[in-house]
Amino acid sequence: MYYNENADLSDGEDDELLPLDTEVGTDDQENQAVDDQENRAVDNLENQAVVDQENQVVDDQENQADATTTTASSVEEDRPVFGPHRKLSRGEDLFEFRKEVEMVKEKKFECSLELFLNLFVECCRTPGCDKVPKVKHHFVGTTLVVTAKCHAGHIFKFASSREVNGLYVNNLQSAAATLLSGNNFGKVNRLADFLGLSFLSESTFYQMQRLYLFPAVEEWWSWMRGELLKEFSDEKVVVGGDGQCDSPGFTAKNLCYFLMELTSGYILEIEVRDKRHVGLASTNMEKVALQNALTRLKRVLDVVEVATDASSSIKKLIGE
Ligand SMILES: [Zn+2]
Repeated sequence: MYYNENADLSDGEDDELLPLDTEVGTDDQENQAVDDQENRAVDNLENQAVVDQENQVVDDQENQADATTTTASSVEEDRPVFGPHRKLSRGEDLFEFRKEVEMVKEKKFECSLELFLNLFVECCRTPGCDKVPKVKHHFVGTTLVVTAKCHAGHIFKFASSREVNGLYVNNLQSAAATLLSGNNFGKVNRLADFLGLSFLSESTFYQMQRLYLFPAVEEWWSWMRGELLKEFSDEKVVVGGDGQCDSPGFTAKNLCYFLMELTSGYILEIEVRDKRHVGLASTNMEKVALQNALTRLKRVLDVVEVATDASSSIKKLIGE
């Protein structure tokens, strides 16, 4: 899919992107550029060290703050029988999509628009040309596209994001980061508003979610569930179940029910129920969800025990 959010703002010319690492320097700037490069090399080393330190601090903080995770992982370490997590992280993908992974991991940063555009206003990027260019810019989601055209007709184009299949990757990653960090568009868009940050439009976000993110999550989950079921196929399995509604009280519209294997903490089954599936009575959702999830799981695993909350309808179901 090719998408150009601000299509009306673009000048109709092909948005051919220049590689980001193109070094551009004019004669009078060469010395400056060399100095900059040297400084940058030193800075990079320093930054690396600082970053490492920061990561360590962050890691430490996370470990301290997230006590439950620590407990869970130490339990798993004591039980290598369930297989290392590496198996579930699909390490081979990291090799197959090496270029994409690098793009994802690449550092991005905030930059004030005016400061950045000044770089283009100063002089034409074509070597030997001293004409002053006219600079235009527009945003495509989170990506800034700059076009500088001088009086001699030299055109220089720049985009602040790399591109894959006609799509600016930073835009896709912004949508993915929003979803996968457990946020929603409204919240992150509000953050961007407060920050003065150019962000995806609502329609683009939902389009990306529908076309790329949901299918990817779906595919990964199906694969992961298959791996886990293989893991427990010869065992008597004890599961714990609980549901989470979209809102508290008796007005919930939908519910997500999880069945978790109790010793490993792996989620083995998920069931989503809508109030409309159960005669518009939200209290029935949990019972139906458990019933469906358990039926599916029992087809492939030997479930010997279920631990869940003790509402009367659930007790009745378990009794049956
Ligand atoms: Zn020029």
